[in-house]
Amino acid sequence: MSIIAENIKYIYSEGTPFKTLALDSINLTIKQGEFVGIIGHTGSGKSTLIQLFNGLEIPTEGKVTVDSRVVGEDKKKLKLIRQTVGLVFQYPEYQLFEETVAKDVAFGPMNLGLSQEEVDFRVKEALELVGFNYNKIKDASPFDLSGGQKRRVAIAGVLAMKPNYLILDEPTAGLDPAGRNEIFKQIKTLHKKSNVTVILVSHSMEDIAKLVDRVIVLSKGKIHMEGTPKEIYSQAEELEKIGLGIPQIASIVKELRKCGFNIKPDILTVEEAKIEILKEVKRRNV
Ligand code: ADP
Ligand code: MG
Repeated sequence: MSIIAENIKYIYSEGTPFKTLALDSINLTIKQGEFVGIIGHTGSGKSTLIQLFNGLEIPTEGKVTVDSRVVGEDKKKLKLIRQTVGLVFQYPEYQLFEETVAKDVAFGPMNLGLSQEEVDFRVKEALELVGFNYNKIKDASPFDLSGGQKRRVAIAGVLAMKPNYLILDEPTAGLDPAGRNEIFKQIKTLHKKSNVTVILVSHSMEDIAKLVDRVIVLSKGKIHMEGTPKEIYSQAEELEKIGLGIPQIASIVKELRKCGFNIKPDILTVEEAKIEILKEVKRRNV
């Protein structure tokens, strides 16, 4: 079970003066159960790539396979692929429209023609997976919720379709720090609790570092680097070349090392940095 992209090329507006090569020579496998981050500067091709994963776009060249099905080969199977690969768009709260949270989350499963009982079960399960108390939230109007809560409802709407893969395109864009933390915490718990594969798209290194197992770095439509967060962040210069910074804490560690602090270079979180810095301070004091 995996998503496989082979030799992907994607061109927008072919045959017009606006022709754009959005993706080029992409080869990539995402295995069931993984938690992957796709990162890149604006315009690097992130959104285009994930739309190929669920058949919203078909590659100009190359092929995408989802759990052994070639995307676009059989038009009738597209619906099935879209169900397997759940895509949460940027600013998904704009797509909330029902008068209650429960009805909104039920919209997708209802369209699958499931029994009312199964729909209700899925709605409850999905809302709980994103951290809500079902009874408290079910009758609320989506429009009365905070930014972070609205987004969690939108994510629940996709989860209620029971996808094998959950793709989130810039899920924290436009949220304040509290909203961002809320979303990331829920995504992390969700990945742990269910066996859904999570693909998190972001332009922020800070966000991705703490969460994912593997990072895919896109630049100008190509895969520029790929590896664990630690492997990627240890190449700060390479990242800066393509307009991506490293997490602030990693650059503080880098500067401290330059000043002669004997601490390990591959630190990604404030907690880890605290432990390492205190160790070094103690060593210096003795
Ligand atoms: P990202 O999500 O990383 O910001 P996109 O996949 O949106 O990148 O864009 C990749 C490239 O394709 C950019 O050059 C962008 O301008 C172009 N592009 C994206 N969507 C369209 C579109 N609908 N029509 C034409 N060009 C597009
Ligand atoms: Mg995008």
